[in-house]
Amino acid sequence: MRGVQVKNAIIYSIGNELVEGLIVDTNSKFLSVHLKSLGYNVIRIETLPDVLDIIVRRISEGLSEADLLITTGGLGPTEDDLTREAISKVLNKSLVLNEEIANELIERALKYYNKAPESVKKQALVLEGAIVLDNPVGTAPGQLIKHNGKTIVILPGPPVEMIPVFESIKGELKTDDELYTRRIKTIGVPEAVLMDEHKDLLYSNPQITIATMASYERGVEVRLTGSVVLKEEIDGIVEQLTNLLGESVYALDDDSIEDVVYKLLKENNLTISFAESCTGGLLSARFVDIPGVSSVYKGGVVAYSNESKANILRVPKDIIEKHGAVSEECVSYMAKNAREIFDSEFSVSISGIAGPTGGTPQKPVGTVCFAFASKKGVKAFTYNLRGDREMIRKRSALIGFDIARRGIREWLRLEGNIKG
Ligand code: AMP
Ligand code: MG
Repeated sequence: MRGVQVKNAIIYSIGNELVEGLIVDTNSKFLSVHLKSLGYNVIRIETLPDVLDIIVRRISEGLSEADLLITTGGLGPTEDDLTREAISKVLNKSLVLNEEIANELIERALKYYNKAPESVKKQALVLEGAIVLDNPVGTAPGQLIKHNGKTIVILPGPPVEMIPVFESIKGELKTDDELYTRRIKTIGVPEAVLMDEHKDLLYSNPQITIATMASYERGVEVRLTGSVVLKEEIDGIVEQLTNLLGESVYALDDDSIEDVVYKLLKENNLTISFAESCTGGLLSARFVDIPGVSSVYKGGVVAYSNESKANILRVPKDIIEKHGAVSEECVSYMAKNAREIFDSEFSVSISGIAGPTGGTPQKPVGTVCFAFASKKGVKAFTYNLRGDREMIRKRSALIGFDIARRGIREWLRLEGNIKG
């Protein structure tokens, strides 16, 4: 399709803590995904210790196989960090003290302590001919150097530093094979049914790759990937499929289901609260991961025992005795009363049997009841979920957010002022 040969890339994660298994290498995962979308074929990911000879050997070898080599780690101030020295040796280029960086590092260090460490001199060493990549978060800057038609990018190890430095050079690393990806996130339609019903549309162009991913935390995600020249066609398929799937589509691309609930509430100046039992605060924990959520989230309670459901959420004792704590009757009271207690526009409640014990023939493990309350009333639902305790709890949180999303959207439609 495209004449140019695809460029190869190798990622090196450098640090003793990585080979010793003390830290999980998240940098490579991040870089690999991004390099693929920039059009690279990542041929290898290597984890190397802070040993000069090994780094020198592996990078020299990599230079004969790949067009782009990216290292992360080994740029710290201490003696054991050797990435700069190793690359200097491989390329036979000296390390030069960059006065500007050194002064800036000294200035920053003096803000915290009355003496700057000697190590700033090490961190300010730049390879002859390299472009310095500003590190807005930490101390060690990244570097980009071209050598015999190959590109070497040196990035800091801590992910919070590595990501912004990498983002700043993404434009420069783009290839002619840049890819374009869209994601459609759904809930409620089984993966196999979704693919059966829409295969003609999804597979209309063999140059567009379709991948699906089903997870109990995120539902079913359909991913469309193709060359960036197919952008309009990919966008067209996403739009058509989104219309066909209707309410089953909860988000596109990067948004999570809790982001969607947050945005619906925020854009319409509305608030929510949660009353959780079997999810033990999962809904709350996921929601408060969103910065700024305090403007829409009034709070939540974990009412795990029958007594707390009665005493805190004021569920009538005879309701629990007659129908059980896992019942539409009980969750309806939980949502209705949480809404009043927290003075929120909406409330979502969850009570279920996560297992492995506690199931009965009438209510087996995986029976989970949900309710959504607004000033217009309460709606309750019962699901029969499969899986172990963790899966049931995580899936319940996903469904809880979905019930919130559908409930809020319906409320807005009735109010006639839907946004988003
Ligand atoms: P550095 O001083 O550049 O060697 O990086 C030090 C710290 O960055 C390590 O202690 C880790 O916390 C983090 N780090 C380094 N490499 C990675 C990696 N590949 N994935 C995740 N964290 C990393
Ligand atoms: Mg290190």
